[in-house]
Amino acid sequence: MYQVPKLADHSAAALDAAVRELLAALEAEAAAVAGENEWRAFRDRWMARKNGVLTQVNDLWLKAAPGPAKREVGQRVNQLNKQVEERVEAAKERASGAATSSKLAGERVDVTLPGTRRPLGVEHPVIRTMNEIVRVFQRMGYSVGEGPEVETDYYNFEALNFPPNHPARDTQDTVFLAGQEKKQQRDRLLLRTHTSPVQIHVMEQQPPPVRIVIPGKVYRHDTPDATHSPVFHQVEGLVVDTNITFRDLKGTLDHAMKALFGASMKTRFFPSFFPFTEPSADVAVSCFKCGGKGCRLCKMSGWIELLGAGMVDPNVYEFVRKNGYDPAKVSGFAFGMGVERIAMAIYGIDDIQLLYSGDVRFLEQFA
Ligand SMILES: [Zn+2]
Repeated sequence: MYQVPKLADHSAAALDAAVRELLAALEAEAAAVAGENEWRAFRDRWMARKNGVLTQVNDLWLKAAPGPAKREVGQRVNQLNKQVEERVEAAKERASGAATSSKLAGERVDVTLPGTRRPLGVEHPVIRTMNEIVRVFQRMGYSVGEGPEVETDYYNFEALNFPPNHPARDTQDTVFLAGQEKKQQRDRLLLRTHTSPVQIHVMEQQPPPVRIVIPGKVYRHDTPDATHSPVFHQVEGLVVDTNITFRDLKGTLDHAMKALFGASMKTRFFPSFFPFTEPSADVAVSCFKCGGKGCRLCKMSGWIELLGAGMVDPNVYEFVRKNGYDPAKVSGFAFGMGVERIAMAIYGIDDIQLLYSGDVRFLEQFA
């Protein structure tokens, strides 16, 4: 690399030779500059105040020159300063131009290449089933509502006519939030055990008539196994109007099950009990697998229980009476179904945990 020489004498000829050598070195180094970092190093080597080539020229040539030569040497050094400065500037433009064009080359897009295929996501079987159920009721004119997953005891139990010692309130079933012992029972927070509390919210917010379906997550204190999960999904339905009868409930659910599973699906209503409906029914559909002849899936009965339903208990209306729900004037029905149970029946899944495992090999089957 070029080193600034001491001048043996300060004659014009010696100076000319030294300047020629210096400019040749400058030219060679400038030509080698390829990028912005290299250019910065180049600039500093030549122009840095401390120990740059020009500083050395000033020290070794000008300051060391004897008195009579100083004027002549000073002029040459001034000229050199300008030349170096111009050369460094010119190199900068070239270096940044090179950087830009290499950046452009790197970003060039070949539009003829096939491109990166991104796998398309699909609805999870639980969400797909839930949406299908909701759509069936939307086509019958139902609106869709949602409610909070953290509820008070009042909405989850009391307003739904659960007697104070009903086993569903038990900590075996319900996930209560900790540290609420000081609160009154009705104000204690819990993770809703069913979507039914939204019935109360809806009736508090709107006077009759009501036609609504409510999809959502619910929580139970259950140990996960092939048929249980502490979190699962329900779709709740509520209809309140004048002159709504059990016949409307039967017709609605029979139509909904046929719309979901096919026109040959039959429904059957068994007497049951829920605190917030009276009378109550468990609804079974004819077996998906055997069509009613009897098989392992339906335990040889020909029927599969899929939902709970019933006429809204007049006691429930008492909690929202102020909003136009006079039990002497309105009547209605409610129903609820477990989405996982229906998805498992539709898709022939025998372990509920598969639905939550996130295993792509399992989920890909539904793509
Ligand atoms: Zn069967």
